Amino acid sequence: MLFTCDLDETLIYGARFLQDENCLTKTKVRLIETKDGREISYMTEEAISRLKALSKKILFVPVTTRTIEQYKRITLFQKEIFPRYAIVSNGGTLLIGGKVDETWEALVKEKVRKNCLSYEEVLLKFKEIYSADWVVSQRRADDLFYYFIVRQDCLPKEKLDSFMDWLKENHWNAYLQRRKLYFIPSVINKGEAVEYLCDHISPDFITAAGDSLMDLPMLQKADYSITPLQGELGRLYQDEDKESKIKITSDTGILAAEEILKYIEDLNIALEKNWHQVAEETV
Ligand SMILES: [Mg+2]
Repeated sequence: MLFTCDLDETLIYGARFLQDENCLTKTKVRLIETKDGREISYMTEEAISRLKALSKKILFVPVTTRTIEQYKRITLFQKEIFPRYAIVSNGGTLLIGGKVDETWEALVKEKVRKNCLSYEEVLLKFKEIYSADWVVSQRRADDLFYYFIVRQDCLPKEKLDSFMDWLKENHWNAYLQRRKLYFIPSVINKGEAVEYLCDHISPDFITAAGDSLMDLPMLQKADYSITPLQGELGRLYQDEDKESKIKITSDTGILAAEEILKYIEDLNIALEKNWHQVAEETV
């Protein structure tokens, strides 16, 4: 079984998710990422031990919009759990044993060149609405997409909406997630990266977890998928009561990670049982 799993706010959580006193008293939490001495991300001990056990039984693949550098900052995946494959940069990069898969890298660059407007043209157009009043910083991540740190309360909403529409027409996607604004070529997405990986490893069964619209292409490719209640997808599917095969957790925040891992564990147990049954029937 393959388990493709988003990291931030699906499996790992920032400090703002620790403010819930209930959560802190109910559970033990461990710091799993620091940056320049600052504490960045946490998981519960329970989630860590579930993930450890699960990683021995199934193929766990982290799938994240983090850059290579940001992914490698997570000490848990450098010291305790060693995923053979990791998809980073929102699907733009596949790491195998920590090294960039150059075949996928070349394929991605070719797809962007053929299908999407150039990086330079996108930036040029963005400069028409850009202002230091609301853009704090700008970065071209792993040479694959742009992201900006923005002041949410100063966004020029109408101008930004029409810029996002323009991006879509030119085969780019835009995502606004709190302080982060992303512009990503549409061919760079988690779904296409998982598909490429699957072509190589041919999993019998695919499961997925993720919280945001960036995870949707990956969740749609899975046989079973789950999303945390507090996330963008959780809210979307709950509010609109959409017909969906995506399961929503009942727990929220850092505790939702435990529920997600339990769900995948149970699926794996059920699947193995099924195989045994089929094997017995065949005998
Ligand atoms: Mg996420």
